[in-house]
Amino acid sequence: MKHRQADENSEYTADQTHTPTDSLAWMDAELDELQARQQVRSLRETAVTAAGWLDVEGKRLLHLASNDYLGLSMAENDWPEPSPAARLLGSGASRLITGHYPAYARLEEEFAAFKQAEACLVFSSGYMANIGVISSLVGRNDEVFSDRYNHASIVDGMLLSRAKLHRYKHGDMNHLESLLKKANPNGKKLIVSDSIFSMDGTMVPLKELVELKHRYGAMLMIDEAHSSGLYGPEGAGLIHEMGLQDDIEIQMGTFSKAYGGYGAYITGSRRLIRYLTNHARSLIYTTALPPVVVEMNRYNVRRSRQEPWRRERLNELSGWFRHQLKGMGFDTGNSVCQIIPVMTGSNEKALQFSRELHQRGIAGVAIRPPTVPAGSARIRFTLTAVHERADLTWALEQMEEAGHACGLISSQTDRADHV
Ligand SMILES: *Cc1c(COP(=O)(O)O)cnc(C)c1O
Repeated sequence: MKHRQADENSEYTADQTHTPTDSLAWMDAELDELQARQQVRSLRETAVTAAGWLDVEGKRLLHLASNDYLGLSMAENDWPEPSPAARLLGSGASRLITGHYPAYARLEEEFAAFKQAEACLVFSSGYMANIGVISSLVGRNDEVFSDRYNHASIVDGMLLSRAKLHRYKHGDMNHLESLLKKANPNGKKLIVSDSIFSMDGTMVPLKELVELKHRYGAMLMIDEAHSSGLYGPEGAGLIHEMGLQDDIEIQMGTFSKAYGGYGAYITGSRRLIRYLTNHARSLIYTTALPPVVVEMNRYNVRRSRQEPWRRERLNELSGWFRHQLKGMGFDTGNSVCQIIPVMTGSNEKALQFSRELHQRGIAGVAIRPPTVPAGSARIRFTLTAVHERADLTWALEQMEEAGHACGLISSQTDRADHV
């Protein structure tokens, strides 16, 4: 490659004497290696066309890979609200400078009351909340105890904190306790867990975590990204469903999943929120969300509380769909909710199954390491309240055929309970 001829008056003509080097050439080898392991990822243009449906590069697909569990992400006729906030489309400042817009104050106040918490702090995303909060709660001389299946943003928060990391076996309270026993008595201890695990659809043993937290004097942080809006009274979350809201001092969740919006929250004591406002770097050193987004979150939270049919329908569809898949002989792991993995083992099988489904008109996305442990690739199916049962019935037929084509299920016998 030849350098573009520099302007004669340019001070930088000296550059021309160097042979241009391709300083990013090393990336080819790394990408080739990912490709060889069938782990390379790429972006595909995806348009959400109607509730429960997608257009991926021109092909219409049933959307079984969405986190919009309640179907709240689609605009309704009465949105945007005719409020001044909706007219300020950009943002323009971080929250601690001049970006604490009235929309923020309204959302935080309403949301704290809903969660029966003293206070709430909105972050720009769940990822930012987790890295900012965990890294401000613990430091060099402290220890963090994290379920091995926790979300990547929790892992990154722990790394950023420089605290000593312990990753306990998924849901294994004995393992966690053995680690807590050995902890340094002079440091702080933080236990952190997802409520519903995003790639498995399993549920945290919350009561046991609370017991351990009390017994060992640890702080407890629960990430309700996949349960907020779905469980408990008015969808307040799994913590509220179990009546443990006064035992868990750091409650986190997102507006980006069941609430169909964007951003995240922490609820807890005034002291906690005051501390985070002064220490969480991902809150301090980033631009505030545009107020229109904050208003959308508030609006969607209100809708989710007022429309319990969404939660009920999701719950019913999920139970039915999972039962049908099991009846066909698919391995759905230990899922108990709207997140239903179909285990394929190898990356190759996951991609093959995903391709088969794609050809049949279904979007089911292959989840591979490092998102899940090596050898546990899967398709992660998710249901929403706005899927039609007839479409799902059709999808199940397609999945059964695709499952046979890929050798994931063996025969059509032993299906007495599958109708
Ligand atoms: C999605 C997710 C996050 C990140 O939230 P974003 O708002 O998408 O950044 C954090 N934790 C868990 C468990 C999640 O599933």
